[in-house]
Amino acid sequence: MYKNSRDTTDILELRTIGNDMYELMERLYPITRSITGKGVRKTLKIFQDSIDLQIHEVPTGTKVFDWTVPEEWNIDDAYIMNKNGEKIVDFKKSNIHILQYSEKIEKKIGLEELKKHIFTLPEQPDTIPYRTSFYNKNWGFCMKHKEFLKLDDDEYAVNISSEHKDGSLTYGEFLIKGESTDEILISTYVCHPSLCNDNLSGPVLSLFLAKYFSKQKLHYSIRFLFIPETIGAITWLARNEDNVKNIKHGLVATCLGDSGNLTYKKTRDGDNIIDKIVEEVLIESGKPYKIMDFWPSGSDERQYCSPGFNLPVGSLMRTPYDMFDEYHTSEDNLSFMNKESLRDSFLKYIAVIKKLEDYFLVDIPKRKIPENKNSANNNPVFKNLIPKCEPQLGKRRIYDEIGGIKKQDSLEQKKAIQWILNLSDGKNSLRDIQARSGLNYDILLDMSELLLKKQLLSVV
Ligand code: ZN
Repeated sequence: MYKNSRDTTDILELRTIGNDMYELMERLYPITRSITGKGVRKTLKIFQDSIDLQIHEVPTGTKVFDWTVPEEWNIDDAYIMNKNGEKIVDFKKSNIHILQYSEKIEKKIGLEELKKHIFTLPEQPDTIPYRTSFYNKNWGFCMKHKEFLKLDDDEYAVNISSEHKDGSLTYGEFLIKGESTDEILISTYVCHPSLCNDNLSGPVLSLFLAKYFSKQKLHYSIRFLFIPETIGAITWLARNEDNVKNIKHGLVATCLGDSGNLTYKKTRDGDNIIDKIVEEVLIESGKPYKIMDFWPSGSDERQYCSPGFNLPVGSLMRTPYDMFDEYHTSEDNLSFMNKESLRDSFLKYIAVIKKLEDYFLVDIPKRKIPENKNSANNNPVFKNLIPKCEPQLGKRRIYDEIGGIKKQDSLEQKKAIQWILNLSDGKNSLRDIQARSGLNYDILLDMSELLLKKQLLSVV
């Protein structure tokens, strides 16, 4: 379908793509983005210089499955000032100093009270952590642990000039129409402030990809989504429920600029065409790579692969979120980006889409999930009662009921909840879930009981 001569031209055209991507990241880096607000709009407006991006605004309060579009949040300034009038934490110097979605505050407080609102990373004392509190009203600052230890027992002036208001959630959408209404979905998120690998690498790659393929004649239509993570994917799915059947293959684009090797996180079923195609591209690259089975945390594949949708959406990235030390810290900055990695990631996305284009006539029979024969009491089968996107656990006070003495216990319990909710489609038994998750059976059983009590599951 694609002649060699064209590929050669592509390679010449794309010689400097890593630089181009990096330059756009430099422009986007200073913008204070969040899941709603001016920063997302400003980012999407910049994208409109390159593609005819459609911008949607969804009003605060709109019900989207189990969630509600939150209030819009904007911030102009924030600082902590010591008694000498020195700003010891200053939002103007780094926008990740602020706990995202912090409430407006202006008061003088002592060190003990201030400490309750400060987030640091004791294991990485030289970095500022990135923290959010989207759905629990709170306020706070993030700072280097090294600086935190220097705070005197004194009075401090704290000031956060932020605003919560009824506004909207903003997202961008761009559709390249192919010959077919069958679609390839490329989904990425635009909600992190000054963070590069997780986040800017995804939207920047997607934008250049959209620009590149919009010039080509295609079999598939390609839909690009630039959304706030989690709530944006849930909102888009809620508004487009009737059309998701058109999505035949999909990728979530994130973490694409670090120096690590490529990693592919498979779709929930693990045997979709996209899984096969990405693997082929990675094998053909001749470079080391990693393929990981689906797990129900991570990015927006959590929503696309929730049991009520189970879309064939995987995620092609380099080092996955939370597997690199710089993740969600001030170290995930422009100097952490590798232009050659950006270019390589971009070329791999092109290769995947071209292969899908070549592949569309081949019909692969899809594996059926085996019927569960063992529904005995010690191996129950559950059905997730809110199967479209994730249920909102915070508002159901589920987090209040988990947590052991050790932090590790509550992590395991959280993982168990995600696995149970994702795989409980009335077919997988709890033993099946244990086999796939590798989690302790008793924890799975305890968490199933909690979810039954919270009316998120029923017994099949
Ligand atoms: Zn993130």
